[in-house]
Amino acid sequence: MLRCLAAGDPEVLGRARHPDARRRVRARDEVCQECGDDGSATYLDVHHTVPVCTFHESDTVNVADAHDEGNLVLLCRSCHARAGLGQLEFESTLEHSF
Ligand SMILES: [Zn+2]
Repeated sequence: MLRCLAAGDPEVLGRARHPDARRRVRARDEVCQECGDDGSATYLDVHHTVPVCTFHESDTVNVADAHDEGNLVLLCRSCHARAGLGQLEFESTLEHSF
């Protein structure tokens, strides 16, 4: 798995720059797509199936596509942490190859 060189950079993480996409994913998925947590007790995160840094490191894709809904899935904090560690895998519906 590739690791972000700029981990923690809000731009690389995609936070705040695409609030509309995040809202749409929350409305579409409603609950954690791994365990079904409804977010009533914990905050639900929007996970990038293909990490944003992968888009930054590629010459063949547009970084903005990282925030396409097809690359986003709603997860609870616990499942998001597991996804970040590579313990959970999700399919991106983006039509790019990396
Ligand atoms: Zn979960």
